[in-house]
Parts: sequence; C-alpha cells; structure tokens
Amino acid sequence: MLIYMIPGGCRPLFYLLAMVLTLVSPHTLNHHEHQDHSEKERPKLLLVSFDGFRWDYIYRVPTPNFRSIMDEGVKVEFVENIYITKTYPNHYSMVTGLYAEMHGIVANEMYDPALNLSFSMETDSVYDSRWWEQAVPLWVTVQKDGGRSGAAMWPGSDVLIHGMFPTQYLQYNASVSFETRVQQIIEWFSAPKGEAVDFGILYWEEPDESGHNLGPQSPLMDAIIAGIDEKLGFLMNELKKSGLYEKVNLIVTSDHGMAQLSPEKIIELDQYLDRDLYTWVDKSPVVGILPKEGKFDEVYGLLADANPNLVVYRKDDIPEHFHYQHNVRIMPILLEAKEGWTIMQNRTGLFMLGNHGYNNTLRDMQPIFVARGPAFRQNYVKTSMRSVDLYPLMCHILAIRPLPNNGSLLNVQDLLSLEPTTSTPISTHFTVPPKIHRYSYAPVVGSFIGVVMVLGFLVVYVILVTLKQRPALKHRSWEMSQPLLQEDLHL
Ligand code: AMP
Ligand code: ZN
Ligand code: ZN
Repeated sequence: MLIYMIPGGCRPLFYLLAMVLTLVSPHTLNHHEHQDHSEKERPKLLLVSFDGFRWDYIYRVPTPNFRSIMDEGVKVEFVENIYITKTYPNHYSMVTGLYAEMHGIVANEMYDPALNLSFSMETDSVYDSRWWEQAVPLWVTVQKDGGRSGAAMWPGSDVLIHGMFPTQYLQYNASVSFETRVQQIIEWFSAPKGEAVDFGILYWEEPDESGHNLGPQSPLMDAIIAGIDEKLGFLMNELKKSGLYEKVNLIVTSDHGMAQLSPEKIIELDQYLDRDLYTWVDKSPVVGILPKEGKFDEVYGLLADANPNLVVYRKDDIPEHFHYQHNVRIMPILLEAKEGWTIMQNRTGLFMLGNHGYNNTLRDMQPIFVARGPAFRQNYVKTSMRSVDLYPLMCHILAIRPLPNNGSLLNVQDLLSLEPTTSTPISTHFTVPPKIHRYSYAPVVGSFIGVVMVLGFLVVYVILVTLKQRPALKHRSWEMSQPLLQEDLHL
C-alpha cells in the first residue's frame, strides 16, 4: 500500500532503490556468511603412532621426512607420556587426555577384581567393551558431534566402546602392511563430501618390535629407524598425490621410547618369595602383585628391601605424580624395576634386549612428537608437553568440545598457527556461537551505498512534494521560469 503514497513519477526510482538495497542489505550479507559457514568443511586431522619411536631416534640417522615435517611445522623436544610407559595405556591416553588411573587401561595385561576378569592384549579379552568404558575415546566424541572417523589398527579402535566403533576401521591384524593401512586411511579421507572422515588414526608396530628384539643400542636399529622415515615419506607422498597434504593436519608421535636391557640385570622374584603367596599381573618392568588372601604384609615384607634395583610400592604409597593409584585394576603392590633391569620369576622366561614401561620421567621412555598442517605454526620447536595435552589440542583442531580430561590446551596452544580459521567450533549444539573470523569490508560498503541511496531518494521525494504543494503559476513551465528568474536578477 505504501507504494501508492509515492508520487507516480518517483516509482521507477523507488523500485531501483529497493532492488539495490535488497542486494546490499546486511541481512543478505549475513545470509551469505551463514551459508559459507555451514557449508565449511570440518578441519581434518590424522594422528600417526609409530610404536616405540624414541624421541632421539631422528638424530641417529638421516631422517629427511621427519625433518621436513619439523621444518614445515612443529616439534616438541620433551614429551612426558603417562605411567606406565606401555602401549595400551599410552595409546588410550592420547585419545582420551586421561591418565591411566582415569581411563582404566592401566596396563597391557590387567586383572579387574570387581569384574573378576583378566585382560591381555594377546587374547580376545581386548574386545570386551567393559575394559574401555571408563573413558570415551575421541573418535566416539567426533562421531557424536556429527563428524566421521577412520582408524587403522589403533589399540582399542576395533572394540565397541559406548555403543560405537569408528565410522571406518580395520580389524587388528599385525600382518597388514603399513602401505595398505595408509592407502586405506587416504581412501577414507578422500571419500565424497558427507562420507569422508575428519579424524584419522594410524598405528604401526615398528620400531617397537625391533627395539625389543635388538635393543635400542644395536647398530642394526639404524636401518630400522631409516625404514620408519621412509614409511613416513610414503605417507606424505600419498597425502600429496591425493591432494590432502595441505588440508590435513598431520601429527606423528609415539607411545613411548625404549631402554637397553642386559642379561646381567635381572631381578628373580623366586629368590625372594614363594610363588604360592601371590598372583603376578602384567609384565616387566612394572609388575602388579596381588597377594593371596591374608598374605599382603608377608609379601610386602619379603619384597620391600629385596633388591636395590627394585622399587616396591604399596598401592597407597605410589607417588602422586604417577597418577597411578585410584583404580581397582591397579594391584595392592606395585613393583617397578630401575631402568635397564628386568623383573622375572626366574631366568627361564623370555628375555628381551629392549623394553619400556619404566618410570615416565626417564628420558629414554619419551616419544617423538612432530606435526604440520594448516593448524600448526611453521618451523617451531617447543621444549616440553605432556601426552595428555594432545587430546585438548586435537579437540581444538577438530573444533570439538573436549570431555573432561587431564590435559590443558594452554600448555600446547603455542604450537598452533595464529591463523584462526581452524579454531572455531562448528558444532551446532554448542552454546557458544561460532565466531566469524574472516573480516570483510562488504557489509560496510553495502550499508554506505544503501544510506546514500535512501538519502538521495528522500531528497528527490521532498523536492517533488514541495514543488507539488507550491501554488501553481499561470502558464508556468520549467522553460518559462528561467527568463523570469533572469529578469528578477536584473532588477
Ligand atoms: P608393547 O610391547 O607394549 O609396545 O606392545 C606392542 C604390541 O602390541 C605390538 O607389537 C602388537 O603386537 C600389540 N598390539 C598393538 N596394537 C594392537 C591391537 N590393536 N590389538 C592387539 N594387539 C596389538
Ligand atoms: Zn608400544
Ligand atoms: Zn613394546
């Protein structure tokens, strides 16, 4: 109706104005921003673990591929992993941000007195969900947030946890080659939009296996380390070939390091106490001792000062900083060998030249950590972090709200590039509205044009209305008025 209040001659001008305003209005701009945001792809992250890759292996032989990740990205010199420095506890910490006493995977071999069940990574017990459900791994959280994950043999990733498997995963099979695992991960990341994974996890058994068999000091380890660097090069090339290299944030790390053992450094428990007094849980160098009913004091008394290379803890006395106490799966007595020593019942057992599991503050127990990609700074070396900090870092990169955890993003945020594009949670059910990080001049220019046109329209409108309301001059026309004015001026 308002349109009919505008003088007929002005209507074309009004239509033109309305069209321009529609095109440049802030509402239209917001709509474009919104569409852009909702169609934005989730940030991509691939976490790779080379089992038992000690922090200093890269300094031992040329490792050009590790070097290139460091140059293009970040490296952390000291990574304090979690106690105990074994494969299952540490891999679960990386994807939960929790210490072992919190996530419940306290060892590779466990006994749960509440469930009256035993767990061994060498049996099907690993597939019993109950072992894993004291925590929620990141792939479950990603999927609950509407994202997708893909897992190639990561410990626990082929187990149903809180009712979920990873969106894509491989059943554990040690004989599947690294190259096949990589190709599978690349395929999952490269799937069409809506099917591609956002978070990938990739596990490889080496150099852990060789480290155990050869001992980390063996010169034969050089070729093994160089071989891991080649495997990393293969992964990088495959990412490049598939156009993912610049899109995917790549973190390459490990669960623990490796210590050199010696057949001269063996602690034989049979020398100190009778086997009938206790049940042995897990393997050297950290062994859980479950004394038989009523035998706690006797067992503890026999072991406490038995050997200078054996640290014996009552469960209640385990140092706080290990975060390894408050869980029923931690046994009443804990034995910890000093670095390089092996705990056995007697010498007939299997002996290895390398092992890990020792105190996590020992330098030899610490893993490698390098990363690159759009979320990371370039050519940056950080002194230290804790492996539990990796979880909040990954949640931040994936724009996922982290579950309660023992890590802190503050400890590791200097690893991140200042470019904020990857840091906005894109989940729609977050209470914090997503920030728009791109600063555009379009809204300002658009509003300016709009205001100028409205003012122009009003000026024209006021002039026309004023003219219409002036008393009509007899025979007056625009052409006639000029001589009149000129005549007036001559007066
Ligand atoms: P560790 O001696 O603590 O470093 O354990 C390493 C070993 O764990 C590997 O050599 C594998 O044999 C085993 N392992 C790793 N991942 C899995 C898995 N998902 N399922 C079963 N065993 C595994
Ligand atoms: Zn391991
Ligand atoms: Zn190992």
